[in-house]
Amino acid sequence: NGLQVAIDGPASAGKSTVAKLVAKQFNYVYCDTGAMYRAITLKALQAGVSLDNVDEISKIVKSSKITFAPSNDGQRVFIDGDEITQEIRQEDVTNSVSAVAAIADVRKELSDQQKQIALNGGIVMDGRDIGSTVLPDAEVKIFLVASVEERAQRRYKENIQKGINTPLDELQLEIEARDYKDSHRKISPLTKAKDAIEIDTTSLSIEEVVSEIAKVVKN
Ligand code: C5P
Repeated sequence: NGLQVAIDGPASAGKSTVAKLVAKQFNYVYCDTGAMYRAITLKALQAGVSLDNVDEISKIVKSSKITFAPSNDGQRVFIDGDEITQEIRQEDVTNSVSAVAAIADVRKELSDQQKQIALNGGIVMDGRDIGSTVLPDAEVKIFLVASVEERAQRRYKENIQKGINTPLDELQLEIEARDYKDSHRKISPLTKAKDAIEIDTTSLSIEEVVSEIAKVVKN
């Protein structure tokens, strides 16, 4: 059936890029757990729900259906049947998602769904707490890191391709703020699982990172 491959790390460390390629190489399913937190955040923002309204956001997560469909460059994301693939990448979602992801009911509900998705193996799942909490028995656990300067650069280049021109220093501050919130929340914060292999991607190409991970999967 294939293995469970968990890929965690801070924001913009290249997790989704390499996770998609590893999944392709082994014919595994790719699951972007960050997209699930983003989907709930988008729905809350669209409904005008304040981010500190824990009860209302808990209701949203329990009553929403998040689904994925494969596409050429990874996956499409839907909430209650509506496609939100592009919308969940908007800056307001990015800046609000850590607050939503810190809510206990949100984490409980989404990590239960993630466990279900990964149940039969053959999966590459990326996030913040996959190796530590969601899939503690995953056969392969990778923790990707890169310097914050490099991560801001990568985001900057991605943005330029999309026609977005946020200054580099602003991106770096956003990444640092999000990492801080994600690693200081009470429930399953961003952490490297004890048995995870850390890969510093600062000076590696995408191909090099993918081939490192592929070696671990094959072993
Ligand atoms: O991976 P991505 O940057 O899209 O994740 C967006 C946000 O979702 C993270 O900053 C974090 O707050 C939350 N997240 C999480 N646990 C995960 C994946 C993402 O808390 N497993």
